[in-house]
Parts: sequence; structure tokens; C-alpha cells
Amino acid sequence: MTLEVKGVTLELTASCNLKCTICPLGTGLLKRKCKTMPYALVDRILYDNPNLERINLNNWGEPLLHPEFFRILSGINTRLPKCQIHFATNGTLLSDSVAEKLLKHRIHEIQFSVDGIDDTYERIRNTKYNEVRERIETFIKRRNAAKNPVRIIIKAVVCKETEDGIEALTKAWTGLADEVRLQPMLEYKEGVRSGPCRELFNDPVVVFTDGRVVPCCSDYNGELELGDAYIADLRTIWNGRMAEAIRDTHKRLKYPKVCQLCTEYKTDRCKERFK
Ligand code: SF4
Repeated sequence: MTLEVKGVTLELTASCNLKCTICPLGTGLLKRKCKTMPYALVDRILYDNPNLERINLNNWGEPLLHPEFFRILSGINTRLPKCQIHFATNGTLLSDSVAEKLLKHRIHEIQFSVDGIDDTYERIRNTKYNEVRERIETFIKRRNAAKNPVRIIIKAVVCKETEDGIEALTKAWTGLADEVRLQPMLEYKEGVRSGPCRELFNDPVVVFTDGRVVPCCSDYNGELELGDAYIADLRTIWNGRMAEAIRDTHKRLKYPKVCQLCTEYKTDRCKERFK
């Protein structure tokens, strides 16, 4: 059976202006060198994959650091006018002019990474909560005044450090943001998988800044490389020899090392993503 690719995550940048304690980029675990996806690669992916229905513009890294971020938004809007655009941001670069430009583009959803209020947030993200809160609140007011349909999500990672503050976070943002979304933290401990990972059968696939394609965000150093978006379209790569070989190892319950280590924080507050 041929698997379709309707969604893709484009890692526009593997750089960040913060050093978060819960992120492989912030903690130095992400070892890849290429830091920025060239506009030409984005354009090529749009050209080669006209059936895309959803594009995420971040993987590991702060997408608003990309020097051609707004050109990329315009490029997607022009080439694939029905494709949904999503991205997550830490919100620290949301100046007035960035906010104004964002609201001039068609974007389906912006997720702001906020894992707690006050001390918890500041310990994890190494930046001031009140400043980011003010930027996001101002953006929500502008969005409402402009009647722009972009959905605004507060996305929190649930882990040992954040779990006790999740209720306060949810209370603080309910009614302001459109949704407070929780996801368990990736932990990378030896785990016991009980079956094939769903990420190997469902898009979005992930394209790194240098064009390499992997099945999931969890493989942040590219150990499960499936192909190269400079060379082939995503459907071909997703149904190719490498992807099939990895699926086969999972079906036989013999997992690659990165998959053995791919575990998530256990919590009743949200579901595991990579079961
Ligand atoms: S187990 Fe983890 S690393 Fe392996 S494919 Fe699934 S999400 Fe990716």
C-alpha cells in the first residue's frame, strides 16, 4: 500500500535565541551543523509536493530567526494557497513589526511555547515570563481587532519540572488563547516498546535544514535518514527502501537505537505521542 504525504515539517532553522533545558538544541544534544534551510529548498519542496495540505515551519529551532521567514510564508501562500501553515515559536521575537507582518499572511495556527508561569518558565526557558506573556497577549488583541482567523495555541511540555504548575498555566491562558495544548516531554531513556511506532506510518515527515528527511522530530540527529528532499519528492522517500526497512524492523520488534531510547514523560495529563 502506498502511503501518502499530506503533511510536512520544514525545519527552517536549527538555531535558537534561547537555551531551554528541555530541548536537545538548548542542551547541546543536537549535533547537526547546517543551521538554516535555504529558500531554494523550501521552493523545491513546494514544487515537488503539490498535494501537501499542512506545513509546520519548525522542528528544533526558532523559526522567526530565519532571515527569509516572511518570503517563505508568501511562497507557500502563492504556490499552495489551500495548504495550512502552522508553526511554534518561543514568542520572544514577536515585536510590533513582526506581529504586523504575521497578521498580513494566511497562517492557520501559531503555537507559543510556554510551559509554566513565573519561576518555572524562567528556569526552563531562561527568559522573562512577563515579557513573553505581554507580547502574546498584545498579539491576541491585534489578531482579534484584525479579525484574522489564525488560531493561537499555548503549548506546554509536561515534565517533572512543569507538571505541578500546569493547572495554573491552563487557568491563566484559558479564555485568552484558543487552546492550551499539553505534550509529554521526550526523555530518551531506554524504554520498552510494545509495537511499531505510529510516526513511521503517519505524516508529517520532517525535512532538516540540509534537505535530509526523517520520520519524526524525536530523531533530532538524523539516525533514521530516509532520503533527501533535494533529490526526490516526499511521497517517493516515504515509500522508499529506507522507510520500508525501518518499518520492517519495528514490525519485527527489533528497534533502531534511537527508537529504543525514544521515551516520553509519563503523565495522566496528556497522551504519549510516539507509542
Ligand atoms: S520510536 Fe521515536 S525515534 Fe523511532 S520513529 Fe518513533 S518517534 Fe521516531
